[in-house]
Amino acid sequence: MNKILTGLLVLATCVQAMAATPWQKIEHPINGSAQSIGGFSNGCIVGAHGLPLENSHYQVMRPDQRRYFGHPDLVAFIQRLSQQAAQQTGGTVLVGDMGMPAGGRFSSGHASHQTGLDVDIFLQLPKKRWTSAQLLRPQAIDLVAANGKRVVPALWKPEIASLIRMAAKDPEVTRIFVNPAIKQQLCLDAGADRDWLHKVRPWFAHRAHMHVRLRCPANSFECQDQQAPPSGDGCGAELQSWFAPPAPGSSPAKPSTPPPLPASCQALLDEHVL
Ligand SMILES: [Zn+2]
Repeated sequence: MNKILTGLLVLATCVQAMAATPWQKIEHPINGSAQSIGGFSNGCIVGAHGLPLENSHYQVMRPDQRRYFGHPDLVAFIQRLSQQAAQQTGGTVLVGDMGMPAGGRFSSGHASHQTGLDVDIFLQLPKKRWTSAQLLRPQAIDLVAANGKRVVPALWKPEIASLIRMAAKDPEVTRIFVNPAIKQQLCLDAGADRDWLHKVRPWFAHRAHMHVRLRCPANSFECQDQQAPPSGDGCGAELQSWFAPPAPGSSPAKPSTPPPLPASCQALLDEHVL
């Protein structure tokens, strides 16, 4: 393929990735009792709540992006976790993306975060609260060494392990995604108390934040839960497979076209987006 054609293809892909989705046009939560609808990577939410921006235990990063909406269960979880973290560590929880006012697909950055049940939380607990300028331009701390095989010892702090453990022990939480090197360090540090480790799942990136996912709320009848993660602490062969070189001949998965929206989400878009 000649260079010009390759360049055009790259450009087309970028434009596609940046194109706004109809969900971004919905500026306020949809009225109604809270309902998470569909799957984490193909869904929406009615009756979302905004996470209050003023709180003494957490701070919301990039509030200008208005991605701080979610199911009331998610709002309550963030309040619960940050209160516990503040009590135990004296630090402030830094809250990243939750979801948009009606959930749905972002134009970039996330495949999930669509049903108001996912939140990104930075893996740092500053003792001094961030200024609004810092919140608008958050400085991530990359905890993983350049070779991807371990955490950076000088940056890894017991309070970060506690934060992840506290989140994993919350009964509403089903999964937490972190980089494989971070999961490995948690496996090493955990000692005899290991039941919570099965919820901590190794995943690409996630070097500076954890992605926390809650279970479907009791009254969200159209919400699709995932299967529970395999039992056991997940510290053995599955984790080690992340550090092995790819098998010869294996190729990266092809990008798939998104499945159709759940009917209730499509109806909501039809009603609220011209
Ligand atoms: Zn996330």
